[in-house]
Amino acid sequence: ATISLSDLEKIQVLGHGNGGTVYKVRHKRNSNIYALKVVHSDCDPINRRQIFREISILRRTDSPYVVKSHSVFEKPGGDVAILMEYMDRGTLENLIKSGVNFSEEILAKIAYQVVQGLEHLHSHKIIHRDLKPSNLLVNSEMEVKIADFGVSKIMCRTLDPCNSYVGTCAYMSPERFDPDTYGNNNDGSYNGYASDIWSLGLTLLELYLGHFPYLGEGQRPDWATLMCAICFGEPPSLPESVSKEFRSFIECCLQKDSSKRWKASQLLGHPFLQKVKRP
Ligand code: ATP
Ligand code: MG
Repeated sequence: ATISLSDLEKIQVLGHGNGGTVYKVRHKRNSNIYALKVVHSDCDPINRRQIFREISILRRTDSPYVVKSHSVFEKPGGDVAILMEYMDRGTLENLIKSGVNFSEEILAKIAYQVVQGLEHLHSHKIIHRDLKPSNLLVNSEMEVKIADFGVSKIMCRTLDPCNSYVGTCAYMSPERFDPDTYGNNNDGSYNGYASDIWSLGLTLLELYLGHFPYLGEGQRPDWATLMCAICFGEPPSLPESVSKEFRSFIECCLQKDSSKRWKASQLLGHPFLQKVKRP
């Protein structure tokens, strides 16, 4: 049966994003729990555009590794709301902040799911462009799903250049700052698919270290210094103490030259993911 807004009651606020709020809601009759993302009509046009982009991407995707949307509610000219599956452990950023230590075994499991999600998106010509711990949702079964498609891009043609400056600076790949040096399209544009892989590498490294790899614990970013470190410094890497498979996996993601970075489909065959027990 289709769900209408009047079937749902708000239980609590889960978080705020730009221009919108995410609520935990319960279906009044069958008690099912969902997450409802509401973007208000008075938000600025950029946020409004973002939610419609997100809706069109969620409609195109159907993967156990991408957060599912059940329905979209829209009052003409009014609020827009997306009813999504509820992920009861929140984001990976929440887990980092609560001091969870991620073992290599857990990280391999997380990596496997995110790579599957990226492989699904990329094969549907969707680039996420804002992959980071706060956009990866987790549930108590340790299922990890990619969320938040507000700034994602659907590639219309295979050679559609990807130039616009969107996403969170900190997780941006070298070619997004400097496509002439690190890009590989030979026309000043960068390969957006490869940029998602860079963000994946940084995200996994952050989960292992417990802090953003380019900054020390508790250190606040200074954007100019950070951008220089990303473009001119060596990519961050794991300590010697980890397994060679894990080190190599991170190195495959954090190649500064985007043409040397592995694709999602290649990473699925990487030795680091071979130990993961498949459902
Ligand atoms: P940000 O800019 O930090 O990424 P945002 O504008 O993209 O925020 P969302 O990421 O969509 O907004 O949601 C805000 C918060 O709501 C998230 O950080 C997360 O804690 C929570 N949240 C979003 N979707 C779900 C969900 N399906 N299940 C559980 N919690 C969710
Ligand atoms: Mg988010």
